[in-house]
Amino acid sequence: MIAQQFDYTVAASVAEAVALLQKHGDRARILAGGHSLIPMMKLRLAMPEMLIDIGRITELSYIKEESSYVQIGALTTHHAIESSVIVQRRCPALSEAAGLIGDIQVRNKGTIGGSIAHADPAADYPASILAFDAVVITIGPKGERQIPASQFFLDLMTTALEPNEIVRAINVPTRTGRSASAYVKMAQKASGFAICGASAVVELDASGALAHAAIGVTGVGNRAFRATETEKALHGRKPTAELLRAACEKAAGGVSALDDIHASAEYRLDLVRIFARRALEKAIERAGN
Ligand SMILES: Cc1cc2nc3c(=O)[nH]c(=O)nc-3n(C[C@H](O)[C@H](O)[C@H](O)COP(=O)(O)OP(=O)(O)OC[C@H]3O[C@@H](n4cnc5c(N)ncnc54)[C@H](O)[C@@H]3O)c2cc1C
Repeated sequence: MIAQQFDYTVAASVAEAVALLQKHGDRARILAGGHSLIPMMKLRLAMPEMLIDIGRITELSYIKEESSYVQIGALTTHHAIESSVIVQRRCPALSEAAGLIGDIQVRNKGTIGGSIAHADPAADYPASILAFDAVVITIGPKGERQIPASQFFLDLMTTALEPNEIVRAINVPTRTGRSASAYVKMAQKASGFAICGASAVVELDASGALAHAAIGVTGVGNRAFRATETEKALHGRKPTAELLRAACEKAAGGVSALDDIHASAEYRLDLVRIFARRALEKAIERAGN
């Protein structure tokens, strides 16, 4: 299908993008990589009258390393995140998630800011954004806001972003010591979107027990979620195979699973316990090494 007619303008800076959003209000949408918005427009599921292209704002495309976190600019592409040595070293689950998105064309154009603002329930990043307790930095007419990941993804394609705000960056806290992370997923074969994706962030204490375990799950419910029951069952305990298996039985919590042509709700719920365990095993092995 063909999108309805729309106007198009290019923002040269973050301030200009915010001013343009303010000026055009509900009629306008931000265009980043276009790999979610343009398909939505072609299907007429989105019908903006004005596109504000932020794709040339180079100040939004970067990966910066600080002592306790990694900051990723909103316009950083999936490919840049996948291939960043900083992300691979400090938050490998995020680089793994990026590397498993769609295909090379999608990864070359799609951006992390676009992905999390779009909040597709099957998107890969949200599992890791939640597991890392990342913070989404937004900017709007009233200035900047820092939104914890736990408060950012509200529902199906719905986030805490105000209509006149843009995502500026994401801060991903990182741990020192015997810590690591991993992301694994079952992908929908045609698009690569997650039928179930799980991200684990762990830290082992000197005795080898889990001082920290966080698990984010995507693709299963209306929005990504944390497997809090599993996290509680693991805290302070040595991660034996038996413990991991038992703890992951509770990984889906009370989530209401999606049921569609790709997978039934029952199958998705079953995948959660399997993929949560696989992500934990991979992260724990990395932390141990
Ligand atoms: C064939 C195909 C396969 C795909 N497979 C996967 C997959 O396996 N896993 C996966 O996670 N994703 C997948 N995607 C989606 C892809 O990752 C998109 O790139 C991503 O979801 C959106 O990023 P974008 O930069 O393209 O955003 P756009 O399409 O430009 O924008 C998406 C939405 O976010 C808004 N937006 C964009 N940037 C900002 C910003 N900085 N601040 C506020 N709002 C903003 C736009 O207004 C729009 O509403 C796939 C897409 C395609 C076409």
